[in-house]
Amino acid sequence: MVIKYNEYNLLFQHPFTISKGTKTHQPTFVAELEFFGIKGYGEAPAISYYNISVQKMIEDLERKKQFVEKFAFSDPERYWHYLHHLFPMNPFLVCALDMAAWDLYGKLKGKSLRILWNLDDSKIPVTDYTIGIDTIEKMVEKMKEKPWPVYKIKVGVPNDVAMVRELRKHTDAIFRVDVNEGWTLEEALEKIPLLKDLGVELVEQPLAKENWDGMKVLFAASLLPLFADESCVAEADVEKCTGYFHGINIKLTKCSGITPARRMIAQAKALNMKVMIGCMNESSIGTAAIGQLAPLVDYVDMDGPLLLAEDIATGVGFDFGKICYNDLPGLGVNVNPL
Ligand code: MG
Repeated sequence: MVIKYNEYNLLFQHPFTISKGTKTHQPTFVAELEFFGIKGYGEAPAISYYNISVQKMIEDLERKKQFVEKFAFSDPERYWHYLHHLFPMNPFLVCALDMAAWDLYGKLKGKSLRILWNLDDSKIPVTDYTIGIDTIEKMVEKMKEKPWPVYKIKVGVPNDVAMVRELRKHTDAIFRVDVNEGWTLEEALEKIPLLKDLGVELVEQPLAKENWDGMKVLFAASLLPLFADESCVAEADVEKCTGYFHGINIKLTKCSGITPARRMIAQAKALNMKVMIGCMNESSIGTAAIGQLAPLVDYVDMDGPLLLAEDIATGVGFDFGKICYNDLPGLGVNVNPL
């Protein structure tokens, strides 16, 4: 196998703000795996609060590149195990390589991953569209700019209930909120009933990721389903979330790729938890991988490319929240060779 990679700094349409800060660009790492002339692509955006930069992905890969390339590739699951042991501290890099391996595998078989996995395309959740934190006027403006059936509203600031109240005046769409760890238990107990009255269907990561005592109380009292994001990073976290959250938000980058994500989906379902699959801020490459997994989950959050002013791949389409697939094999994206 031959590996190439590139780094990009993707520009947002609007500066993107969540409870943890604002960014104007998204740095991202793209890997290309070539095997007998066929090329597969994978992506891992850098996320500062997980402390892995694109530079760190490049450094780790450069150090062990010969091992990544010399693996006798037969299937992505075996490859993931190999990568996981090569880079135990860098799930982001493993994600990009695992995703590229799945894209390659699909292309070698001439089929989309959904077809290879025998998934039922008839009941795929629509994807939400994210409204980042801004002045209330700007948030209303951004929402009106993008008529959509489901919005994920970033909250976790003092006036967030007022934001949702104002947004509600302008649409009947489904709302979900993502607090990104921004509330105390007291705030959560006070705000969740108000948000329920405003037609919010679920709350993502209300409390700090390590606040399990707070989550226990909130789980018992909450009028809305609670989803773990920052509290559910890797496979071992799924079981920890039972009794604290009603569901989990799986992200390929933090869990280290498609291979562990499929196991996490199965595990969460076995534990009677709901599953959301979510994107980071990322291009159509990473988002296409989410699209392939979408038939397996209850909620989809794959609007990454919609928030960008520029993309590095094509092939991911939406029709008012509905994911539009093409006939391409693997992930189903067109990427210019690196
Ligand atoms: Mg989240």
